[in-house]
Amino acid sequence: MSTTDVINPATEDVITTLELADEAEADRAIEAAARAFGTWRRVSPADRARLLRRFAAAVDEHLEELAALEVRNAGHTIGNARWEAGNVRDVLTYFSGAPERPGGETIPVEGGVAMTFAEPLGVVGVIVPWNFPMPIAGWAIGPALAAGNTVVLKPAELTPLTALRLAELALEAGIPEGVLQVVPGRGSVVGERFVTHPLVRKVVFTGSTAVGKRVMAGCAEQVKRVTLELGGKNASIVFADADLDAAAAAAPGGSFDNAGQDCCARSRLLVQADVLDDFLTRLEPAVRGFVCGDPAQEGTGMGPLISAGQRESVRGYLDGADVLIEGSAPTGPGFWQAPTVLRSRSETDPAFTEEIFGPVISVLPFRDEADALRIANDTAYGLSGSIWTRDVGRALRVSRGLEAGNLSVNSHSSVRYNTPFGGFGQSGLGRELGPHALDAFTETKTVYIATGE
Ligand code: NAD
Repeated sequence: MSTTDVINPATEDVITTLELADEAEADRAIEAAARAFGTWRRVSPADRARLLRRFAAAVDEHLEELAALEVRNAGHTIGNARWEAGNVRDVLTYFSGAPERPGGETIPVEGGVAMTFAEPLGVVGVIVPWNFPMPIAGWAIGPALAAGNTVVLKPAELTPLTALRLAELALEAGIPEGVLQVVPGRGSVVGERFVTHPLVRKVVFTGSTAVGKRVMAGCAEQVKRVTLELGGKNASIVFADADLDAAAAAAPGGSFDNAGQDCCARSRLLVQADVLDDFLTRLEPAVRGFVCGDPAQEGTGMGPLISAGQRESVRGYLDGADVLIEGSAPTGPGFWQAPTVLRSRSETDPAFTEEIFGPVISVLPFRDEADALRIANDTAYGLSGSIWTRDVGRALRVSRGLEAGNLSVNSHSSVRYNTPFGGFGQSGLGRELGPHALDAFTETKTVYIATGE
């Protein structure tokens, strides 16, 4: 049995030491989930809905506790952590409506009638990264359970605590034993087992593109269903006609939120050349005013990076770079990194093309709309992006031209539980959330009944 120390990234203190599951334990959890599936899928729609609502209520009652746990384990600001726990509650509530809504169709056909059923898949294996432990767990748990599946979930090694607490709350709310299990363990052991175990019928993987490709290749062996939410290198495009004050004020939040450890972070800032200097003048006070500090303190903009390794990786991109603006960060214990704005030397500069996953923006000027689209789309990723302009026609043209799954105009928001979320290209496969999320957790079955006509 191996163990892992769970660290508070703001202090480097050990919060707790946790046992990590081995393959045999992962197998036991998967087998228990398969047994629970037999009964959970038969729980009446109204009861399944009621249980999900009770689970949502339990999360709401423990919102402050869950938020405080995430502040300690992941270094998230208290404001963000409250939103994240609230997001789990809202996702559970939203999908609690699904079991009682129609799930199939009747289709008139010759000689009878055909009908479709949305059948649950069975055991769903959910693999979660460390950057948003609660919401990413919730996005899979909500629709998977609503559709009648059971879930085994592997949190990231660095951030297992809120997922473990969510599983306890599910049990307390009356969700039956085995329906939702959280199995902390290594990706190469427990995560891999979700991929290889034949009783796991679907894998929902959120994490790096490199591991996602491996998961997808492994799932192909059994033609296992897979949803992938992977990396991003997202562009925010600021046109000369934009409200520059608003665009500059919003840029730090859009890039430095969660210390930039966000797959939707707008880490490429494309600014129309005519207004570059004006824009940077406005950006500087916004960056300097973005408070990096104690995440438990109300009003803090960003906390530390998740680990020493992550900080080292982020700093690798800053060596010798052209720093335009540098904010401040605490010194002393904790994996701190000040928010930083770089002037990109070229479109091929690694800081401009690679997902840094830290509080770093790379700025590059563009000439016109076509140039902006060309630069923004010159990436293997395609997760999110922003367009800042007062011209509605341009906003729509550029939105249609951008090859990315989640765009916002005059805003940096990407995620809502009631709209689809997912990536183009190597940012992922499939969509989570929104009205069609259950499609990813069900198989369509067609039944034809001959009526003798
Ligand atoms: P990671 O790929 O290293 O790990 C993600 C998860 O996969 C962890 O739980 C890890 O233990 C597990 N894992 C590792 N190796 C595995 C294997 N061989 N088989 C199965 N599972 C394995 O990613 P990370 O560093 O934890 O997270 C950061 C990445 O996640 C970034 O690239 C980020 O963009 C991406 N991300 C994407 C989204 C999205 O919705 N698109 C959201 C959050 C994070």
